[in-house]
Amino acid sequence: MADMKMVGMKMGVVQTALICSMLTLALTACKLHKIKAPMHGVSEQALPQDTVSGIDTPARPDDTDFSDVLQDYKDLNDRVIRLQAPLRLANAKLCPKTERDPGFIVHSLDDYPPHIRMMAQEFLGLPETGVFIRNVRRGSPAHAAQIQEGDQIIAINNKGIENRTAQDRFYKALARNAFNGGQTRIRLQSAQGQTYDTKLRAQTACNIPVSVVFSENMNGHTDGTGVFITSSLMKTVGDDVNLSLVLAHEMAHVIADHIQRVPSAELELEADRMALVLMQNAGLNIDRAIEFWRDASHPHDNLQNTANTHPSILARYENFREEQKRILHQLANGQDLSFR
Ligand SMILES: [Zn+2]
Repeated sequence: MADMKMVGMKMGVVQTALICSMLTLALTACKLHKIKAPMHGVSEQALPQDTVSGIDTPARPDDTDFSDVLQDYKDLNDRVIRLQAPLRLANAKLCPKTERDPGFIVHSLDDYPPHIRMMAQEFLGLPETGVFIRNVRRGSPAHAAQIQEGDQIIAINNKGIENRTAQDRFYKALARNAFNGGQTRIRLQSAQGQTYDTKLRAQTACNIPVSVVFSENMNGHTDGTGVFITSSLMKTVGDDVNLSLVLAHEMAHVIADHIQRVPSAELELEADRMALVLMQNAGLNIDRAIEFWRDASHPHDNLQNTANTHPSILARYENFREEQKRILHQLANGQDLSFR
């Protein structure tokens, strides 16, 4: 990412929007669905649309640099990764699928679709081969090991990943067992070319990835395995605790496998209740999150009331308060929190 500041290419709105779409697709490496129904705060479609694919991208000024777009995208991604971390780590026992999380995210040129590979090479400084650190989460084992964004991974547990075959092996190992044991040995090379060795012990976390989608729609969304938050929603919800509630709500849909069921107001309320449990376990202030929800302006309240798959703001608020009472009761009795 170090090279991004030197980029001075100017792009038109349309071109930039197109690249945003491609970039989003590239970085999430997921099938994304168009998100409709503008809603506010904790709201989304429980189910993706089956037929539409494509992403609305926000208009940007004519003199937008591609580096600005990349930086914007990186900042938004870093924020959701940072906010989701305590939810993923504290709730591993409640998640059906867990992973061993070293606290870094990697990328390589192959992760980008062929038509934007040249741009990824130029703007992200990614060579033809090699696995590079894309994000280091603060407070994580990788952060403690002083791994830096932009560093190249040379070897994991003495197995080199110098070429494409080795790179594939690395990705499989990442998914399988590279971080399963006690300590994982990692050899890296810094952007300045210095090789260093480090060890880290990965943490167990819920396996629910989160991604940012560039869109003017304010929405959170899940495809049943991952969580997608639009850039517009993130910018509107400046408060971290409130955005954590949005993330927790989406994670709850994944945990409860709601994608298998017909969307309904009851599923939304259930996801809200589960979200409070996830938040309480993560040490977040659920009282503040609920208050924020009540006090926030809700321009789409009418729309919500007419949509039969979404409960009213008031029904949601009361549901939150009821669940909060139950949680406080469980805590007072010294019990581990469970879903209702
Ligand atoms: Zn929902």
